[in-house]
Amino acid sequence: MSSGAFVVVGAGLAGATAVATLREQGYDGRLVLVGAEPHLPYERPPLSKAYLAGQASFEDAFVHPAEFYDTRDVELRLGAPATGLDLEAHTVKVGGERFGYDRLLLATGSTARRLPSADRSGATVAYLRTVEDSDRIRAALRPGRRVVVVGGGWIGLEVAATARTAGCDVVVVEPLAEPLTRVLGPTVGRLFADLHRAHGVEVRTSTAVTGIRSRPPTGTPADGVPAVVELDDGTAVQADLLVVGIGAVPTTELAEAAGLEVGDGVLADETLRTSHPDVFVAGDLANAWHARFGRRLRVEHWHNAKAQGATAARNMLGAEEPHDHLPYFFTDQYDLGMEYVGHAGGDDGLVLRGDPGSGVYTAFWATGDRVSAAMHVNDWDATPSLRAIVGADHVDLARLRDPAVPLGEVVASPTVP
Ligand code: NAP
Repeated sequence: MSSGAFVVVGAGLAGATAVATLREQGYDGRLVLVGAEPHLPYERPPLSKAYLAGQASFEDAFVHPAEFYDTRDVELRLGAPATGLDLEAHTVKVGGERFGYDRLLLATGSTARRLPSADRSGATVAYLRTVEDSDRIRAALRPGRRVVVVGGGWIGLEVAATARTAGCDVVVVEPLAEPLTRVLGPTVGRLFADLHRAHGVEVRTSTAVTGIRSRPPTGTPADGVPAVVELDDGTAVQADLLVVGIGAVPTTELAEAAGLEVGDGVLADETLRTSHPDVFVAGDLANAWHARFGRRLRVEHWHNAKAQGATAARNMLGAEEPHDHLPYFFTDQYDLGMEYVGHAGGDDGLVLRGDPGSGVYTAFWATGDRVSAAMHVNDWDATPSLRAIVGADHVDLARLRDPAVPLGEVVASPTVP
């Protein structure tokens, strides 16, 4: 029996984009957006960059202003996580309410991976996922304070850059030989380590945390309890503020308990449909088939949440549209701005163009005669060419490697998704 309603569980960027798209596409039935956080849907990239630096307001991060939801008749249930999903009855439980749905979108995202030794230590531990997390870190960023960041990933390096710019002494601890290795490979990861070292950050690579202890507080109660971070080389670093950024874990509990197929996220086909035909998934949670890469991908970045939210909404209305966008993300650290298109990992097939020492370069990761990912550093005009090269079915790698061939002429007639 039709309930005449669509429900979106997860009020982040994916969920907020989905409700906007549903209305744009003419859906005029009941529309409910459920979110665990008490805030209007907001974008997370500023939390480790401009918002953390105190250069942007929280409202700047809102996906839509408050009146957007009123004028489009979107029922908001915020500060209330969905606690039950009945696939057969087509209902979602939220607090004391139960919402029926014809189509459901799950967009519950991910949570910060915890570091048990830090949580047990009695020291104050900062993770970064929500605006409150960002507020807590921001309050602690004062010149001369010592910030230890565990994890040399995107959170770790962006927080390190913001903290260092705020005048803190910063130490980054990363278990692999270079930061960002899993995404960029060691060669480009090294360039990021060099950038941070040039700004005075102590980047301790090939170093694991073996223990964390608390120290007696010396500051105000708001400063929290400082930590001592013990490392596997026998040394220890003192932290006025300990930040842990060691990855994210998709929030699959609701889907799993309901009996949807999960496995590193909620499994979906290329239209973002899950193992139940009336349930779709978008954003960090989605482990969806991607035709370009011939396998499932789970992408934890801003653009993916936005693009999949829109695709899922169209498919909830019956479009049957494959989600074939190339993954994309960006970072800002100090005066470095970078954009990355595609999906690779490691150093395999790495082609560097330009002089990294100049602070302006591009990098490509090639497999056979295809380029699976490309990035630029401070070369903003390169973005269309990067998309064309990654989107091309065939790339002449000799032309890509030849600095005399302009980037825009590496592929003749681009096919860009
Ligand atoms: P991440 O980018 O996956 O990086 C996690 C880092 O922590 C990796 O370097 C990892 O090293 C290290 N690590 C893992 N376990 C560790 C441990 N026990 N001790 C010390 N280091 C450990 O994750 P994240 O930085 O926490 O970010 C969370 C999510 O938000 C990610 O999906 C990220 O893509 C996203 N995000 C994106 C942006 C952006 O697009 N600009 C910005 C911020 C966050 P190994 O590789 O050895 O495991």
